[in-house]
Amino acid sequence: MGEQAHAAVLIGPRQFEFRDFLIPEITEDDGLLRVEAAGLCGTDYEQFGGHLKNTPWDIRPIIPGHEIQGWIEKIGANASRRWRVKEGDRVIVEASIPCGKCYQCQNGRAVLCSAGMGYGLRISSERPPHLWGGYATHMYLHPQANVHRAPDSMRRDVLSLCNPMSNAVRWGYERGGIGMGDAVLICGPGQRGLLAVVVAKAAGAKLIIVTGTSQDRFRLEQAKLLGAHATIVVDEEDPIARAKDLTGNFGVDVVLDVSAGSIEPLVQAVEIVRPGGRIILAGLKNRRTLEGLVADKLILKEITLEGVLSSSWSAFDQAIPLLGRYEKELAQLCTHAYSIDNSEKALRVLGREIIDGHEAIHIHIDCVS
Ligand SMILES: [Zn+2]
Ligand SMILES: [Zn+2]
Repeated sequence: MGEQAHAAVLIGPRQFEFRDFLIPEITEDDGLLRVEAAGLCGTDYEQFGGHLKNTPWDIRPIIPGHEIQGWIEKIGANASRRWRVKEGDRVIVEASIPCGKCYQCQNGRAVLCSAGMGYGLRISSERPPHLWGGYATHMYLHPQANVHRAPDSMRRDVLSLCNPMSNAVRWGYERGGIGMGDAVLICGPGQRGLLAVVVAKAAGAKLIIVTGTSQDRFRLEQAKLLGAHATIVVDEEDPIARAKDLTGNFGVDVVLDVSAGSIEPLVQAVEIVRPGGRIILAGLKNRRTLEGLVADKLILKEITLEGVLSSSWSAFDQAIPLLGRYEKELAQLCTHAYSIDNSEKALRVLGREIIDGHEAIHIHIDCVS
């Protein structure tokens, strides 16, 4: 018997089983990751609860964990050349495993790849070599995986923000075009909203406003510590009036809506954005329809409205140094860590089912300790 990998396998809604798998043999084209950590986001909680029905992510049994970092344990010569990494290197592995051949991959949108391969969400642990997720000691590196070199010195918890930081880079900077002197409104102070504050600051925005509810006070305070100039508590004050006040009635250049479930931010964004401005929509609204949206305003104000999903290669490449630059500030967002065998508790804390007295912002599974 060779060396074994240990993993948390989700076998049913809210049901984990801990299993050991044989470490696979590696060829010239693939590799093996010694997993360091898996960051958690809202998708992990929905997956845990069985709430991903009718989506491509309704797959079990599965080793969850799609926000992955670790060290290259074994690597084939071709893979080493392709990824420009060697054994022992610390790396970030993107969740998606794009085919590189379909229409979307060929046109630079690997996020929409029709092959639908990806770690932690898309491939069952039944499929050899079984190690397709980050809640494990080891993970298989498929030839088409996207791997990025990460610095050895960065804090484990801060590096585990890489996936949401890459989202913030793509949504705010690459798609939103936030630039020097811009006024930016970020709706929703979840980890992606808070990281978007850092992106906006790094891009040179002159005014960063973050909205949240009265339940989000701790997060809104964090937004200010990260560089937001103003926060708006939407259930206590009128966000449209406040935003207009803060911009001298001009409106903001970019609205980034990362709030989940609520449609009001998007309806209000049409009022708050300046003529010619951009609205980037990233927070899913549970399939709710948009009541109150005056679509004519999109025309009369020449507003660009764009939906964004997930990340890009270039956004990951920019996210890693950005995490390093703001490492000290970002460490405050990393509130909780749990071992693989405590995955269930990690998810229940994430879903606010367990309140341990310390508000959870970013949680990661620590796969080493
Ligand atoms: Zn995620
Ligand atoms: Zn593809």
